[in-house]
Amino acid sequence: MTFKEKYSEFFDSLEQEYFNQERFVPAVGPEDAKVMMVGEAPGANEVEEGEPFVGRAGERMNDILKDIDVDRSDIYITNLVKIRPPDNRDPKKDEIKAWAPLLEEEIEKVNPDVIVTLGNFASKYMLDTSKGISKIHGRILTREGQKIMPVYHPAATLYDRSKGPELEKDLRKAFDKEDTGQQKLGDI
Ligand code: URA
Repeated sequence: MTFKEKYSEFFDSLEQEYFNQERFVPAVGPEDAKVMMVGEAPGANEVEEGEPFVGRAGERMNDILKDIDVDRSDIYITNLVKIRPPDNRDPKKDEIKAWAPLLEEEIEKVNPDVIVTLGNFASKYMLDTSKGISKIHGRILTREGQKIMPVYHPAATLYDRSKGPELEKDLRKAFDKEDTGQQKLGDI
């Protein structure tokens, strides 16, 4: 069953102006995943490959996941808005509102232990806050009993290198892979 078939009720009720098959990218990953990652909206590379986080930001994220020994294929990865916004602009409030019921359905279906929200848009939506990501990243917060960990968007670490170690540290915490400071014999 395709993603659209699975959530056909949502897609049937979504207003036409918010959908565009040529710019649509479905979620990826197992529905029994323990961790769900929520990004903002797909970009050009994601549309081309039909999968979230496969462009530069995605590669950055994959590198960190590899470094902390997490298998990307174990994660359910989705976006707040599933259509690529024109000219790579930020998603608009009405677009987020139109797509939000689908994300809520995905959360209900996957029922993850923790949701990692990547960047300001997903974090502000999920936590219903106006606080910026630099203030709230790395904390495990809860929304109606659901654990949520806001982290920097991997794209932000491409423009500001200092955010890279912060993102790695937060992801270690989200995936329970915290660096104990111990060295393996092979590292010495
Ligand atoms: N940025 C996002 O927020 N989502 C993607 O899928 C790719 C880049």
